[in-house]
Amino acid sequence: MNRAINHTHDPNLRSWVESANQKGTDFPIQNLPFGVFCHREQTKTPHIGVAIGDQILDLFTCCQLGLFEELPEPLTAACRESSLNQLMALGSWATEILRDRLSLLLRLNGSQSLPEANILVPMAEAELLLPANIGDYTDFYASIFHATNVGKLFRPDNPLLLNYKYVPVGYHGRASSIILSDTSINRPQGQQKTAQESVPTFAPSQLLDYEMEVGFFVGSGNELGQSIAIDKAEEHIFGLCLVNDWSARDIQAWEYQPLGPFLGKSFATTISPWVVTFEALAPFRCPAFARPEADPAPLNYLYSPVNAQLGGINLTVEVMLSSAQMREQKIPPVRLSQASFKQMYWTIAQMLTHHTSNGCNLRSGDLLASGTVSGAESGSQGSLLEITRRGSQPIKLPTDEMRSFLEDGDQVIMRGYCEQEGCARVGFGECRGKVVG
Ligand code: MN
Repeated sequence: MNRAINHTHDPNLRSWVESANQKGTDFPIQNLPFGVFCHREQTKTPHIGVAIGDQILDLFTCCQLGLFEELPEPLTAACRESSLNQLMALGSWATEILRDRLSLLLRLNGSQSLPEANILVPMAEAELLLPANIGDYTDFYASIFHATNVGKLFRPDNPLLLNYKYVPVGYHGRASSIILSDTSINRPQGQQKTAQESVPTFAPSQLLDYEMEVGFFVGSGNELGQSIAIDKAEEHIFGLCLVNDWSARDIQAWEYQPLGPFLGKSFATTISPWVVTFEALAPFRCPAFARPEADPAPLNYLYSPVNAQLGGINLTVEVMLSSAQMREQKIPPVRLSQASFKQMYWTIAQMLTHHTSNGCNLRSGDLLASGTVSGAESGSQGSLLEITRRGSQPIKLPTDEMRSFLEDGDQVIMRGYCEQEGCARVGFGECRGKVVG
């Protein structure tokens, strides 16, 4: 079932944190995303924080000051941890109670007087860390537009395989190389073989790419052997982040058959630092993608009326690029694409249900990613592979530099936000990464 819309989503709410009231902020009081940070100067112990405007509310300090005293003990204990895993494990009842408390604490003219001690840390003085210990990472392929675009490049006569409309296709990714936004990306080396070559060479990847994806963290998990029904799936999701699934297309093309992606993907996956909860997204739920009449209906275990009606999320994602030359010439990043998560063929609930349908256990803090978010229109493709048609149609940057794939010094910036009439904007912040040689 979906999370309810309540007083915490009221677009008229204002916070006593001034920067949270500015138009266009990613982190107004209606958002309240969770992350993990350390104060650069003071203690090096990681604390859980909540983004509010350009500040971070320190949950550990809130606990120390007794501001959460009325909350259940397991919840306050989870707020004192140095990762979100324990909070995620408690399940959606806990995040709902905590959201309610945080909203009252941070709102202007709230029911209580402002705390005297400082419970805020400026983001500029904080070092953000990975929000959770991610035990497992799975990457899906849920955009039919992406799957078709990519399929056309490799199999012009048969772009979409028969299973696509039945199976939320995915592969098991590598959790150890998930890194936080702003970590540099080393250009990977690997085996590659062009059509003209008869044997592969081992060399730095020349076809380095990004994939604009949306990630979702597992909240409460499931026991081995137990599956999660489609109408229960969302109760097991804590929240969402942005994901850049860096991809070395040359390594990938040579290695991917017969067992799928491996070293072409596992060298790095970047995530954004703030986890936007499913509670915060409640006003932005929308119908799942409308399948064309001719498409098969999902099998029963992947179908429910609630999921069909409200399984989608009205979330816009964007990719920006800034080359070293652009930065030298003070040219702002250029937008490469903009797409909507509404257009995904499979919903988050369908992906999670499918993942557990064989009895596979998911654990709190596991990360599942959607696959590249691409739309039908030009300008909505979430990878350079699609935009440049595997490099055959390079794009021109404002400096007149040409790009087929990423060059050293290129910075990829991903953004995500929910905006609609009658709602406060809920932003995801940024997911950034710069390629180094
Ligand atoms: Mn991917």
